[in-house]
Amino acid sequence: MKRVELQTYLNDFLAVDRIKDYCPNGLQVEGREHIHKIVTGVTACQELLERAIDNEADAILVHHGYFWKGEPQVVQGMKKRRLQLLLQHDVNLFAFHLPLDVHRRLGNNAQLARLMDWPDPSPLLSVEPEGVVMCSELSHSESASAMAQSLEAKLGRKLFCAIHDDQPLRNIAWCTGGGQGFIDAAAAAGCDAFITGEVSEQTIHSAREQGIAFFAAGHHATERYGIKALGEHLAEQFGVEHEFIDIDNPA
Ligand SMILES: [Zn+2]
Repeated sequence: MKRVELQTYLNDFLAVDRIKDYCPNGLQVEGREHIHKIVTGVTACQELLERAIDNEADAILVHHGYFWKGEPQVVQGMKKRRLQLLLQHDVNLFAFHLPLDVHRRLGNNAQLARLMDWPDPSPLLSVEPEGVVMCSELSHSESASAMAQSLEAKLGRKLFCAIHDDQPLRNIAWCTGGGQGFIDAAAAAGCDAFITGEVSEQTIHSAREQGIAFFAAGHHATERYGIKALGEHLAEQFGVEHEFIDIDNPA
């Protein structure tokens, strides 16, 4: 397929114009015109670029791309090496941040719910953009320690942090990645538990003082699934080749 075709399709599919974000969503670095193979990954780090280029990617699609608001505007060092590699090899880079988090079927939040079997996810409406925090009522209550165990089993890693009194959980809320700041919104909405990727010092006090169970399951670990699902969707829709490359990240 042609790059412009992919660009138009993705911008529309992920409704990028409707969501305010801290980085440009969609095409970030222009490469060759024709795309046969897509590589997906969580973050456009040097190792992902190298492996994608070795595996003959024409386009790399990531959740964490470049050009974040407030970052230095000068191209040097790490940033120069990454951009140079892409430009030298004429490979396209697409990044989808919040539009991918919130997509109702293929997004990070939706895919985490799918992996964890959390039923009928719906957006927590007190938080914007809609869908950045999702909630679900479990079909039967589950103890907090059982929740911790199943997160570890399904994500294949130890939790960073689990704050609870082994209380029964029924109404849960979650936000993949660095969503710890939303714990108060989840508590205010009456949720029994909040699950995200990272933890901050104040998150612990929020959990303890509001009696909401809290689980930090890894930023990378909770955000592997959206971009992978997007790549699989494109392969099915357009017959392009797709490979997901997981660059391990303990954070
Ligand atoms: Zn993230």
